[in-house]
Amino acid sequence: MQRRLDDDGNAEWLPSPGGLVTAMEGVTNRQSTAWIGWDGTADVPAEEPSSTDLITVVPIPMTSTECSAFYHGLSNGALWPLYHDAIRRPSFNDEDWDAYRTINRRFAETAAAWVAPGGMVWVHDYHLQLMPAMLRALRRDVRIGFFLHIPFPPPELFLQLPWREDVMKGLLGADVIGFQEPAAASNFAALSRRLGLAQGDLPVLQYGDGYTARRLRVDSYPASIAVEAFEAASTDPEVLAEAEELRARLGHPKKIVLGVDRLDYTKGIEARLEAFRTMVVEQSLTAEDVTMIQVAVPSREDVDLYRQEREHVERIVGEINGQLGMVGAPLIHYLYRSLGRQELLAMYQVADVAMVTPFRDGMNLVAKEYVASRRDDGVLVLSEFAGAARELDRAVLVNPFDGRALVNALTKALAMNADEQRDRMQYLRRAVKAWTASDWASRFLDDLAKPCDVPFADELTLEGP
Ligand code: ADP
Repeated sequence: MQRRLDDDGNAEWLPSPGGLVTAMEGVTNRQSTAWIGWDGTADVPAEEPSSTDLITVVPIPMTSTECSAFYHGLSNGALWPLYHDAIRRPSFNDEDWDAYRTINRRFAETAAAWVAPGGMVWVHDYHLQLMPAMLRALRRDVRIGFFLHIPFPPPELFLQLPWREDVMKGLLGADVIGFQEPAAASNFAALSRRLGLAQGDLPVLQYGDGYTARRLRVDSYPASIAVEAFEAASTDPEVLAEAEELRARLGHPKKIVLGVDRLDYTKGIEARLEAFRTMVVEQSLTAEDVTMIQVAVPSREDVDLYRQEREHVERIVGEINGQLGMVGAPLIHYLYRSLGRQELLAMYQVADVAMVTPFRDGMNLVAKEYVASRRDDGVLVLSEFAGAARELDRAVLVNPFDGRALVNALTKALAMNADEQRDRMQYLRRAVKAWTASDWASRFLDDLAKPCDVPFADELTLEGP
């Protein structure tokens, strides 16, 4: 949800554009819903809940100290890097952990106060992993679902976490735990067994003993996008006009390469830029031959690692343009800001090649958005380490840790003939259309509504012939 001030200076809440909100519309139209969340501001007095047509928004307040410890510290300084293969060293700090517990409790207490008798609560993402068990302790009558939008690491990495049992017990308080990929669900099940917390095999685990034993569902539910909205963009006259203007401003290069990411060290932006540089040098290309647009959305600017990443990316962009560009014709057009919806859609339209090259990504919705926005052409270069690669397996898949492979993938994408582009893109489009954001939300919530009464494999009686 977005907070906006109206003409009289009063705050109002609007649904943010994006897959999650679209996905939730089908749900909120059916039943009354409270959206409990933090708006990213600190030291602002708690606001009263307010209602839109769809939902009641219940803001959670935070002090700047809590924000720094809970959000920048534990969530983004410890859990985020740990869950992304520890490609940066996670920093573990007891004070951050205390704040993480405090904020999780605040969310749990608020949810407990709002949820109807026998209702459902859907908890989202790595910031709130303790909330399921805390909420269960307060409200035994409700069904609790948890969905992790980011990867869940293999046991040997997760075990580095000083509070590993607390986090696992927090999650195991849910009735349904959803991950982006089957491998993440397997990691979670393996860890539960290894720590002696739960038994059984996917998709049903048993947690606890004796009369407190409970079954819970642990499964994968790949996140998706509001496909129709992106499809419509490819024929929207305003988007097409903006795309034409953009192409003209770039000087009508023969090929346009696009990167769109939050500025995050997991996204592989610098590896992609280096591959672009190598290709330009090796093939003696100019900005008339190929131009790259790299959009980086400012993210977590209070965290040191993110400031360093920004410096790194901007240094490479500067070097490439300084060494290889011409006055009035840079090879890379770099934007460090958030784009308006139409501008983003226009970029998807002009991009002959989209490069999505994270070192690790739970899903990566940009890859799906690009595909949904195209018709019969365009090439997606996609990291094998993005969750989206499972569904989008006819993209040009690449290992982003292998610099030569990135150069080859980009070269191949730029040289791909029209027939192969069409074959691959049609396949990818079918894959994206087959599983939309609404499917994702419906499947999760349908599972959450069902009691988890599937018998364990070893309880099944085998019937003779
Ligand atoms: P992450 O959740 O890690 O940021 P995703 O690719 O899954 O990565 O989702 C990013 C979302 O942010 C997409 O829906 C995309 O459209 C949006 N987005 C990315 N870049 C921009 C931008 N520059 N301006 C506006 N929205 C953006």
